[in-house]
Amino acid sequence: MQATTTLGDKMAVNGLGPYDDQNIFARILRGEIPCRKVAEDAFSLAFHDIAPQAPVHVLVIPKGAYVSFSDFSAKASEAEITGFFRAVGAIAKRLELESPGYRLIANMGPDSNQEVPHFHVHLMGGKNLGRMLVA
Ligand code: AMP
Repeated sequence: MQATTTLGDKMAVNGLGPYDDQNIFARILRGEIPCRKVAEDAFSLAFHDIAPQAPVHVLVIPKGAYVSFSDFSAKASEAEITGFFRAVGAIAKRLELESPGYRLIANMGPDSNQEVPHFHVHLMGGKNLGRMLVA
């Protein structure tokens, strides 16, 4: 099981532990849990966040089993990394976010409050998002 840290009523993952194949995004990838799919290809799946924080809030996840950005950037193949990030860019373009702009967020570990231990990028836009967050 992925090691966790208590953060109020949520559990933040440490981003470094072994992959938990029962995490919610692994279950979405296996089709055990539904999602509002935006796009899918050989390397990635994109779907709407269940609790959107912006008018457009899409999660893009790699199909491989990576706990966090640190895990993905260290262990994924060049084809997986290239395929994943090209997909993120293509989805942003398809959602017509290039001209107004958008924000990418990848939470990694306790200080980021990462909750789901499967690497994901938040693609957010649809309004001016203000300046970078500092809680
Ligand atoms: P993070 O804090 O970066 O791990 O973000 C996890 C994100 O996953 C949050 O924005 C949640 O709202 C979102 N989320 C959790 N469960 C689901 C789900 N079943 N479908 C879509 N988004 C989800």
